[in-house]
Amino acid sequence: MDITTVLKKEKLNKEDIVFLLGRTAQDELDQLYSAAYAVKKEWVGNVDYYRGLLEFSNRCIKNCCYCGIRRGNTEVERFDTPKEDIVAMARWCYEQQYGSVTLQSGERQDPAFIDYIEELLREIKKIGGGALGITLCVGEQTKETYRRWYDAGAHRYLLRIESSNPKLYATLHPQDGHHRWEVRKACLDSLAEIGYQVGTGVMIGLPGQTLEDLAEDVLFYQKQNIAMIGMGPYVAHHNTPLGKKVCEDGLDTPKARAERLRSSVNMVAVTRLFLKDVNIAATTAMQTLHPFGREMALKAGANILMPLVTLPQFRTQYQLYDNKPCLEDGKEECRNCLSSRVASVGDTVGWGQWGDSPHYFNNLK
Ligand code: SAH
Ligand code: SF4
Repeated sequence: MDITTVLKKEKLNKEDIVFLLGRTAQDELDQLYSAAYAVKKEWVGNVDYYRGLLEFSNRCIKNCCYCGIRRGNTEVERFDTPKEDIVAMARWCYEQQYGSVTLQSGERQDPAFIDYIEELLREIKKIGGGALGITLCVGEQTKETYRRWYDAGAHRYLLRIESSNPKLYATLHPQDGHHRWEVRKACLDSLAEIGYQVGTGVMIGLPGQTLEDLAEDVLFYQKQNIAMIGMGPYVAHHNTPLGKKVCEDGLDTPKARAERLRSSVNMVAVTRLFLKDVNIAATTAMQTLHPFGREMALKAGANILMPLVTLPQFRTQYQLYDNKPCLEDGKEECRNCLSSRVASVGDTVGWGQWGDSPHYFNNLK
């Protein structure tokens, strides 16, 4: 196979996707990324949108083997952000013309949490007369809960499938009946049925993950008719079962981390080439592995940035993985830093716009 021929194809098949994901030579990567950037420009424009990221609580009932705020990590001090503070941060995002906010936390399914989110959504919706778009990212819930939150004003939901391969998924989660791939998939179906713009994604560079798995992930996005993609490299956390194993097995070397970053950027590029009109995030995890990781993603087709708005005193307690960047920065610094990153790749910022994925609307036609 030859990359120039594959990139000229009208429609990529699984074999092409595997081929493109596996490119490592710099001249081939340059070709791949510039083809993906051209598709971005044509289908969604070279305008990047901001979602102010509010990590409002690290309490979690789950025990995912890779995650630093898993229930079993007793090193973490648990926190909740008072509702007034969250609303104030959302108002700040509105004043900064961020267009929309993402509310993220560990998973809880108790009635108090469900009510809390519902009230919070109604409060945030009042800002600017409903001006802010709201994305929720708070895990697996019942369809009824998803519907209540939709009715209260959330219109997008992010729930990563983590891997479209149920067998690989099983190696990343305790086998206790509470971490089931089928349940996660059913949640994605419910969200779509209710009318949310649905986002999903995977971690890249997981132990045991193959290029074939990653190609299936891209096909999964298409099959599920996904509008938004948030994916990034797996990054080890020292006090998790997976993080410890990866370190013991010598899989967390600088070389291995560079490979995970490259695979992640390749995934962004291939997803853009294959799905064209979706929103794709340049995630913070990319920057964890390289100071310019997010710019690399923007240049390879990503169009969404999620500046941290989380209160500085809580940032260190919301570490899903080690070496999370921007722990010391305030929200103003995150705003300015990201704007200069956008300008550096030749894009502009879609200030004050929701920046919904054109895919969602093309789909309704
Ligand atoms: N509790 C919610 C939202 C917070 S976790 C949920 O799980 O959906 C958000 C995402 O962080 C997860 O979906 C996972 O893909 C990512 N994440 C967790 N630990 C990570 C790690 N060690 N490296 C990279 N990404 C990680
Ligand atoms: Fe909890 Fe989400 Fe982390 Fe899993 S990935 S432990 S659900 S915060």
